[in-house]
Amino acid sequence: MESCPTLRQFMAGLRKRNPGQKEFHQAVQEVAADLLPFLADHARYRDQCLLERLTEPDRVISFRVSWTDDAGNVRANRAWRVQFSNAIGPYKGGMRFHSSVTESILKFLGFEQIFKNSLTGLPMGGAKGGSNFNPKGKSPAEVMRFCQALMTELHHYIGPDTDVPAGDIGVGAREVGYLFGQYKRLTHTFTGAITGKGVDFGGSVGRTEATGYGAVYFMREMLKSAGQGLEGKTAIISGSGNVAIYCAEKLIQLGAKPITLSDSSGFIHDPDGIDLEKLAWIKDLKEVRRGRISEYADHFKCTFSPGRPWQVPAQIAFPSATQNELNADEARALIDNGCIALAEGANMPCEADAQHLLRSNILYAPGKASNAGGVAVSGLEQTQNAQRIYWALPEVDDKLQTIMHTIHQKCLTYGQNGGPRPDYVKGANIGGFIKVANALEACGVV
Ligand code: NDP
Repeated sequence: MESCPTLRQFMAGLRKRNPGQKEFHQAVQEVAADLLPFLADHARYRDQCLLERLTEPDRVISFRVSWTDDAGNVRANRAWRVQFSNAIGPYKGGMRFHSSVTESILKFLGFEQIFKNSLTGLPMGGAKGGSNFNPKGKSPAEVMRFCQALMTELHHYIGPDTDVPAGDIGVGAREVGYLFGQYKRLTHTFTGAITGKGVDFGGSVGRTEATGYGAVYFMREMLKSAGQGLEGKTAIISGSGNVAIYCAEKLIQLGAKPITLSDSSGFIHDPDGIDLEKLAWIKDLKEVRRGRISEYADHFKCTFSPGRPWQVPAQIAFPSATQNELNADEARALIDNGCIALAEGANMPCEADAQHLLRSNILYAPGKASNAGGVAVSGLEQTQNAQRIYWALPEVDDKLQTIMHTIHQKCLTYGQNGGPRPDYVKGANIGGFIKVANALEACGVV
């Protein structure tokens, strides 16, 4: 019978096998710190070498994408699909287009996706993909040619029962449309092989809003468990993309007051609050005109500052831009300024030291729990596609709220630590792990 390695031993091996992949190391360390003690107490799982198996992707597909820009220059980018685990369902996870994309980033995202997808209760395995292609400044025709070139290779590896990509940073409704169009052209099929599609061609109502809305529903659950509500709370949000915009929208609808948004150039601070009218202007700015958030400050006469919004006093916070966008000093500032709860809209937005501080001082929800609403509604899109039906918005939103409630309950069940507040990280890690572990055990050593 095997004994469990210590965290130090386990991480030394992982670092050796995956040199230089610091984001992947960070994501695994957080999970392993919770799972190794759990495994030590559960011989049934311990003897299956589950953590070692789960931290090794089923496969990593890496390929060149050649395309031509508007000036006729030939360009080449690298793309990946990391198929991490299909223990509980077909691989599922978004595609990211950003100049910073590396294999390490996609492996951390794919690894977290295993636990997130399990928490939703839907039959989805974990995957992630993307490219170091930078969509900023590219014409729509260039973006289309890139998407078509990428799908020309990717289509060999995906399908409704195999692997179902979706959007992420830099991959919104426009890019998903181009990717799906090329997939159809190459396979002569119309299936739910990609989610986040437009509602006119197989998409689910509510998918666009789902990640941001879901993060707010999760925050509502956390506050409720602490005897509080959203009404009247000031909120700081980072990012001004899909997640941030719909997080702000649901906060406004539920009576809270979002006062910041950001992009990679800086953040706006509007002490009067962003209301639905201002948000409509932001949607046009970001989704149609593809402008910068600084334009909001000029238009609505508030401040725009370089950097990030975490020094602005507020009661609740939603980091919703990218990984490692909140450090320990910023976490300390949030706590000192009276922030009582933080729900991650982005994946791993808090550095490890920041997470440690937040976890032990305030209500803190890790992305794999609080931003699971997006993939959950993607799962509902797959169901609707398979049944060739469409559900109406109230039905989808109702299911989303139920799923976020259930994830919160799972976090409470597995996240008790005898302290003054639940440990949502531990709850999400163990709550997400058990179903995957049971499936791995049942399917034998494969
Ligand atoms: P978008 O591309 O729509 O928006 C990303 C936003 O974050 C933009 O405002 C962007 O600013 C900013 N941003 C991106 N990279 C950086 C950076 N390095 N530094 C500062 N700001 C940055 O992406 P999404 O809203 O879809 O995704 C945001 C986060 O949420 C990601 O972590 C993603 O993985 C996660 N997520 C998304 C889901 C979804 O359904 N879309 C589901 C679950 C998680 P700029 O325009 O200047 O680059």
